[in-house]
Amino acid sequence: MSMYNTSFHGILMYRKDYKDNDMLVKFFTAEYGKKMFFVRGAKKKNFKMTSDILPFTYGEYTGNINDDGLSYILNASDTNHFKNITNDIFYNAYVTYIISLIDAAFPDSLKQVKWFNNLFYAQQHIDNGLDPEIITNLIELQLLPEFGVAQNFKDCVICGRNDLKLDYSESYGGLLCQNHFELDKYRISLDNDSLFYLKSLSETKIIDIKKIDVEKNTKKVLRQVIDKIYDNSVGINLKSKKFIDQMDQWSLKLKMNRRD
Ligand SMILES: [Zn+2]
Repeated sequence: MSMYNTSFHGILMYRKDYKDNDMLVKFFTAEYGKKMFFVRGAKKKNFKMTSDILPFTYGEYTGNINDDGLSYILNASDTNHFKNITNDIFYNAYVTYIISLIDAAFPDSLKQVKWFNNLFYAQQHIDNGLDPEIITNLIELQLLPEFGVAQNFKDCVICGRNDLKLDYSESYGGLLCQNHFELDKYRISLDNDSLFYLKSLSETKIIDIKKIDVEKNTKKVLRQVIDKIYDNSVGINLKSKKFIDQMDQWSLKLKMNRRD
């Protein structure tokens, strides 16, 4: 077991109380992957780093990094937090889900610069007001290979055609063309927009996204396809995702009540 005294870039993933005065705080660090930190005195009134370990914070820290077991934060030098995410229950819910997905996808202590950056840009985009549902879909789709569930959203998985109508088949792990529809009676029917977004959200670098404008119906189909993959092929069931589903139902009910 070795311990380094070092500085690192961290994105706070979550925190929980530990005993009376302390906290355990999980960071995604650029240099060492995900790490759990023991923060002594974090709950005391005059604790000097209170604002540096708030939810949705990122920045530069120094501390002792442990190969395995808990690490320790000693100082924070340059930290910021995403204020709009903090203040908006919808943004907050989507980002919390994105964080728990990324947490589920990788073991601790595995350096993962690409996903460190993806997590940062996902939060920055949502904080800047880009559609959190679509940013979430992008993260979900691009995490699939990390979960070992690669999907083909380009052409028919049987014959490679892409000039006929294409539907999504979960059991075939991708698209089926009209000639092969009969292979899967449980396939999900896709319109051109949903197909376009499944493909482009799987491929586009998150940093390159400048603007999002996706129709409600298209979003519904994307949600349906991605839910099917996560429920059956990935097989994870996160509390933060259930919360989002419930939130959707509440807002639907609110709208219906308003119409009455
Ligand atoms: Zn085909």
